[in-house]
Amino acid sequence: MVEISKSINDKIMRICEKGFPYEVCGVLIGTKNNNKYIIKDFYDCENLNKARAADRYELNPKDYMQGEKIAKDLGLSIIGIYHSHPSHPAIASETDKLYAWPEMAYMIYSIYENKFKNLITWEIDEIKDEFIEIETKIYE
Ligand SMILES: [Zn+2]
Repeated sequence: MVEISKSINDKIMRICEKGFPYEVCGVLIGTKNNNKYIIKDFYDCENLNKARAADRYELNPKDYMQGEKIAKDLGLSIIGIYHSHPSHPAIASETDKLYAWPEMAYMIYSIYENKFKNLITWEIDEIKDEFIEIETKIYE
């Protein structure tokens, strides 16, 4: 399960809407205990894939490192990645799976016509080698 506050989720949603029609991406910062991801912060990262920015993302490693620094300063770690799917459902793609790391939450924000549609969080099941949907709990 992923727990995220409404205020952080709203901020990420807005970034995803603003980035439309391109994919935006960033790191999720927080703690992970057993199977529970608790998101406390995030860091917006540059999508380096300019050629296919409409349907691919490649997180700028410099931004990732900056995210790691922010996490460390807060006594937290990077526990996941968010990215947007412009004009596509929030279903993880084969490419998403190919580049996914285990023990990380992948939040996908589906955006149509500049507007947020829905959010699904995914996690790699290492045994089955597939993405499984995990529950996202947004609290006030
Ligand atoms: Zn994707």
